[in-house]
Amino acid sequence: MLAIEQNFLMFFVVSAPFFGSCISTILTRAQRQQTILYPIFSNCSKCCHHLPFFHKIPILSYIVLKGKCSFCGISINWIHITFEIGFLISSLLAVAILFNQTFGVILLTIFLAWIFIPLSTFDIQKKRLPDIITVPIACAGFLQGYFLPYVMFFDCLVGFLLGFALGTIVSVSYSRIRHQTGLGWGDVKLIAAIGAWIGWQFVPWFILLASMSALTYGIFQIIKHGKHMANERIPFGPFLCGSSWLVWLYTIS
Ligand SMILES: [Zn+2]
Repeated sequence: MLAIEQNFLMFFVVSAPFFGSCISTILTRAQRQQTILYPIFSNCSKCCHHLPFFHKIPILSYIVLKGKCSFCGISINWIHITFEIGFLISSLLAVAILFNQTFGVILLTIFLAWIFIPLSTFDIQKKRLPDIITVPIACAGFLQGYFLPYVMFFDCLVGFLLGFALGTIVSVSYSRIRHQTGLGWGDVKLIAAIGAWIGWQFVPWFILLASMSALTYGIFQIIKHGKHMANERIPFGPFLCGSSWLVWLYTIS
């Protein structure tokens, strides 16, 4: 890797929480149907007080202010700190694990995480995974299979079909047995899209990892909040995204 590429990656890692902060602000404004880019420096969503610069330093300000607006005391939306920490950790992991890989693939892996974080957040909030994001993820998976040497294009194609087939079987079987939706079609499409990234060989492992982590989370929820949580629907998108990103890291490292 060239020195200029190393410097660029270092800049990327250091800037990651700022990118996370900007994207989370844009998304929360879009959800509130506000002007996306104005005001450039955000105000508090409750008291509308202009927030000074030192109240908006990613991660650090959240810790110092204990996650609250210092003017009215309202809790700062959890999305901001999630994006800031998520963007930083994913960039650090990608650079640390893939340090002997090419500059391009490290950047691609970071961007993949930066798409998965908003997608997971959207699934937690809205309980759905929009096609406008899952379809481009599938297309990007096929493109990397065609142009990059890590996963063969044929394996990506079979991975996509296997992911769709397994997802469909689980979704249809669950709804016929339990008469309710267990695995939504958004999840099925995301599993297929991820299959196009990691290849068919890793699809069963990735589904197993995502299922086990979701199950562990569900058990903790029941222990913490009681048995009624067993009937609560857990958004599966974050577990699919997290597991597939780790499997992708393993595949190319
Ligand atoms: Zn406030």
